[in-house]
Amino acid sequence: MQEIQAPKGTKDVIPSESHKWHYIEREMRELCALYGASELRTPIIEHTELFARGVGDTTDIVQKEMYTFEDKGGRSITLKPEGTAGMVRAFLENRLFNEPMPQKLYYLNSPTFRYEKPQAGRLREHHQFGIEVVGAYGAETDAEVILLALTLLKKLGVGDLTLHINGIGCGECRKDYNNALREYLSGYIGDMCETCRSRFEKNPMRIIDCKEPGCREIVKNAPRTIDYLCDDCKKHFELVKACLDAAGAKYVVDPDIVRGLDYYTGTVFEIISSRIGAQGTVCGGGRYNGLIEELGGKPTPSMGFGMGMERLLAVMEANGVEFPKPPETTVYFAANGEAPRMKAFALTQELREKGVSAEFDHMDRSFKAQFKYANKLGAKYTVALGDEELELGKVKVKCMADGTEEEISISALAEYFLG
Ligand code: ATP
Ligand code: MG
Repeated sequence: MQEIQAPKGTKDVIPSESHKWHYIEREMRELCALYGASELRTPIIEHTELFARGVGDTTDIVQKEMYTFEDKGGRSITLKPEGTAGMVRAFLENRLFNEPMPQKLYYLNSPTFRYEKPQAGRLREHHQFGIEVVGAYGAETDAEVILLALTLLKKLGVGDLTLHINGIGCGECRKDYNNALREYLSGYIGDMCETCRSRFEKNPMRIIDCKEPGCREIVKNAPRTIDYLCDDCKKHFELVKACLDAAGAKYVVDPDIVRGLDYYTGTVFEIISSRIGAQGTVCGGGRYNGLIEELGGKPTPSMGFGMGMERLLAVMEANGVEFPKPPETTVYFAANGEAPRMKAFALTQELREKGVSAEFDHMDRSFKAQFKYANKLGAKYTVALGDEELELGKVKVKCMADGTEEEISISALAEYFLG
């Protein structure tokens, strides 16, 4: 019979990989605690409307990439294509605005679904780590969120990254910018892709982010948001840069970054690696001062980012990062004979209950093969159990690293390994 394969663009995390995930998850949680952030978990599915309204119905994500279906009750449901909209929905629904502001909320390992053409660095299910600092307006918050991402990457041993920042302005500057952009683009409408033609009136800035080669060529010399910032936005952007300078963070101002989600206002940023090919953006984020109002809340300025965990792992590997080894089995009980086998089974359970990792033979292997297997497992100690050991109540504990043996009474084994 033919084997069933995982859906295109999805990936299993097999045991020889999962400890790497555990390591980055641990570091993420520790760092979030240092920054005063708490975890907020949201469902994988949301009402489609949340993304149409939040992410924006002229974005690539909403127009082309969402996994949307009708459930048995006739509702339109979508698998999360990004993290922020769900976080904001949960913030409002759980009335977290009644808590002291700002609320620093993070998520990790969040399954994120996009119907993309699968290729290196582009999956249909990937996982994101992200943070949202909700309810803070200051430029320090923008810098703090960016610095959290940079600090994490530094802690994880990734060195080849560049921070790109840009200002895309508020509703006020966007009006002027859109007018200038439409004027520039008006001569090229016939040459744009169909999607961009429909964006021309509704949301011309999206055209800057289009991936179609024809559109990319057209926008090469188009006006950029950074040249159209109002005084407040200009001041804010200067302050963000000053904060980054004060923290010693290097950055480049990159007028090409507009981000693919409509909720962004003001500061946007991406952290890009040069070592993992075309899909080098590990982390992207920015300020979203209008989203919470858009989703039915009071005006609540906020700032956040999303980081692709698979891309982060790829960057770490490209940087030759050594991952801490997963914990190995402490003791393996090799048994010879029926009663010793039962004893090995019982001792294994006893030690595990007391917090020592232990293993015994599940496979009816010969005595000799059991030692071989213990070696493969990387067991630190082996204990040989035969009828004689049971009679004497004592065993020899062999240290696998140096071959030394020590005689220990069976009743004192747990203490020995815990000590
Ligand atoms: P791109 O321009 O590469 O399509 P994006 O703007 O769609 O990126 P974001 O929405 O900013 O990406 O997502 C945040 C992060 O999630 C990205 O920086 C990246 O690390 C990761 N990511 C996004 N899409 C994918 C994907 N299809 N597969 C793997 N990781 C992804
Ligand atoms: Mg994308």
